[in-house]
Amino acid sequence: MKKRVPVDFVDQRLTERLSRTGLRFTAQRRHVYSTLLKKRDHPSAEEVFMRAKAEMPDLSMATVYNTLDMLVKCGLVRQVVHERGASRYCSNMQEHHHFHCEECGGTFDIDKEPETDDPEIHMPPGFSIHHFEILFRGVCPECAAKAAKSAPNGTLRLHP
Ligand SMILES: [Zn+2]
Ligand SMILES: [Zn+2]
Repeated sequence: MKKRVPVDFVDQRLTERLSRTGLRFTAQRRHVYSTLLKKRDHPSAEEVFMRAKAEMPDLSMATVYNTLDMLVKCGLVRQVVHERGASRYCSNMQEHHHFHCEECGGTFDIDKEPETDDPEIHMPPGFSIHHFEILFRGVCPECAAKAAKSAPNGTLRLHP
């Protein structure tokens, strides 16, 4: 039996969202979206392009940019903006925060704890919050382990 469910799911979700915004559903757009779903490691636009192009050689960078822009507008993909470096794209639409590793540049999903949903932030009058997200910055477990290994004995104190 052929496993068709994921493709159908992508088609259905994309068609539905696109029709709401009046955009056309093309094979290229679908391919860019399924590329994002395939490996959820928060790739940059360039990385999405490289991966998608591998299977669809006539795909252009402009199409990838347009499609990513459109997917963000449709609410199917989130754009993760870093102060430095390129934007990343996240296809995990569950509410979550992001952690940015300053060593390897990786972006990781951090589940939102229900108790943090009420931020102790007081908005000036007139502002209403629809959504908030926190971007953590630091070192991921892999990089922390590497640093611990390469540090000469006793010079790296992880637990002060
Ligand atoms: Zn790292
Ligand atoms: Zn994410």
